[in-house]
Amino acid sequence: METIQVMGVQGLPLIHEGDDIAAMICQRMPLKDGDILCIASTIYSKAHGYTKKLSAITPSGRAVRLGTLNGEDPRFVQAVLDASADIILEHPFILSELACGHIGVRAGVDQSNIEDGMVIFLPPDPMKAAADLRDELKAISGRDAGIIITDTCGRSFRRGQTGNAIGWSGFTAIRDFRGDCDLFGHVLKITEEAVADEIAGFANFVMGESDNGVPAVIFRNCPAWSGHDQLYFTTDEDLTKKVLKKEWSQ
Ligand code: GDP
Ligand code: MN
Ligand code: MN
Repeated sequence: METIQVMGVQGLPLIHEGDDIAAMICQRMPLKDGDILCIASTIYSKAHGYTKKLSAITPSGRAVRLGTLNGEDPRFVQAVLDASADIILEHPFILSELACGHIGVRAGVDQSNIEDGMVIFLPPDPMKAAADLRDELKAISGRDAGIIITDTCGRSFRRGQTGNAIGWSGFTAIRDFRGDCDLFGHVLKITEEAVADEIAGFANFVMGESDNGVPAVIFRNCPAWSGHDQLYFTTDEDLTKKVLKKEWSQ
């Protein structure tokens, strides 16, 4: 197996609406076929204008109530409600499901790495965003790279945020080990590895969270895998969601 290389793309400027991030990345680091390019959702959203001024948001009654309850600006809360398809938890923070299936704290709405008084939304259709980006990179460079759009997310059971794959293209999110044999010949019955999240997690480590200025990370020489794209539990499978919703609605 070749050595896996992980390279942060240095020297990208602050991203604004209309910027061609595919071209900007290709200029700074030439891609090879089979590379996996991870992009922070925050720059995808800034480039595509998925941002809003807080001053342009009028909070609803619910946003005012939750703002008071959680100690947050009701206009920010309204942005979170607008980005949510289903609210799973209202307090001590809003946890919600987005239309794309991703579940995240405050619907992944960010106020960092953007000017004061602005919010950044996750791309509304992150799978299409990743597929589009892959096509653009192919058109610019002639190379076929996989794409992961990442976001830093909290998680259950453990302290500390990690990078998650919000959208991806060029491979399956899950590597399916079911049916394979372990070292002792036992057939694996359960193991599905969330490879897209693992790569997103390492990319997030290279990016950092603050003023590093590295919103893109390239993985080279990752071995291929096969599996499927059903990264999100169905409503019936998702025990955590069921319990949280039950608790909260009582
Ligand atoms: P998120 O995880 O998608 O919410 O993005 P973060 O705000 O955590 O940023 C991830 C990385 O991208 C960090 O290294 C930031 O400093 C960097 N970053 C964020 N926005 C920009 C930008 O507009 N230009 C550059 N060059 N880096 C950025
Ligand atoms: Mn984020
Ligand atoms: Mn982050």
